[in-house]
Amino acid sequence: MMKVSGMPVEVLIVDDEESLRGILSQVLIEDGFAVSEAASAEEALEIFSRTPHPIVFTDIRMGGMSGLQLLQEIKRSHPETQVIIITSNASLDSAITALRSGAYDFLLKPFEDLNLISAIAKRASEKIALMRENQALINKLKEKNQELEFSNRVLSELANRDGLSGLFNHRYFQDAMEKELIRAKRHEHSLALFFIDIDHFKNYNDNNGHPAGDFVIRTIGKILTKSLRNSDLVARYGGEEFTVILPETERDGAVKIAETLRKRIADFPFPGRESQPEGILTISIGVAVFPDNGTMPEDIVEHADIALYTAKESGRNTIC
Ligand code: GH3
Ligand code: MG
Ligand code: MG
Repeated sequence: MMKVSGMPVEVLIVDDEESLRGILSQVLIEDGFAVSEAASAEEALEIFSRTPHPIVFTDIRMGGMSGLQLLQEIKRSHPETQVIIITSNASLDSAITALRSGAYDFLLKPFEDLNLISAIAKRASEKIALMRENQALINKLKEKNQELEFSNRVLSELANRDGLSGLFNHRYFQDAMEKELIRAKRHEHSLALFFIDIDHFKNYNDNNGHPAGDFVIRTIGKILTKSLRNSDLVARYGGEEFTVILPETERDGAVKIAETLRKRIADFPFPGRESQPEGILTISIGVAVFPDNGTMPEDIVEHADIALYTAKESGRNTIC
């Protein structure tokens, strides 16, 4: 039996001569195909619109719509259907036209060798099976591609993040700083940068243990992120140091925001903060602004770093 994916292959036979349809039907049914018949191209289209057959045998010359027109109609809506043209020697020219229009093959009538019918139908159904296998492979590949794209997105997100705090990491910060500065220059906007360092953090670790210290780093990351705009970028620069890029922010605004951050941390009841020199856990912040403090990323970073150092020198829990 002629089957593709477990089902008998459906063949539609279109001819206005009943006897011819009969011969074809008999041969193809014996070969295991599921056969339907139509006496005209119009009837064939009606059947086809309900059940698109993968193989169609059609006479070329019929009253009404021709086999060539039927071929074109079918190919337009179902390019995967294999159409075999039945023609007499007298209209061999139109058989060639049909091949050019996408017919799979042609069959000469009167039929001299019935095996030829079987052979053409068998080849056509093998072609259909191959095409379906190909399509299934392509679909599988597309699926795999989508999975890969997803994993790549997850991986690059992981590569940009710091494992402990979930904040952006040092490398991402460097890239972002360059990009944001280019944008600021192009739009003639200002940009602020904070360097933030936890005060006496070694002391906190010594008294409360490293896991408690890790909790402080994560919590500060969350407080910073929550206190800032979505367009601001918070990163863990390293150890107990954080950076914040604030696009479109001038010095006065930046200092006000830094002050809010400083106060939120100082007010937060971190467990064990009593052991800190001032009885609370605090941060110091160095502020730098483009273009006031330089135009290159290194200039701005260096200025923020020096400002942080000055804040530490002036007693900590301070902004400079
Ligand atoms: P200062 O006020 O001058 O900043 O003093 P400090 O003690 O904070 O500075 P110092 O550079 O002497 O010590 C920084 C400490 O931060 C030491 C280090 O163990 C701690 N630290 C760095 N990264 C981590 C971390 O991921 N987890 C924990 N728990 N501690 C960290
Ligand atoms: Mg430090
Ligand atoms: Mg510190």
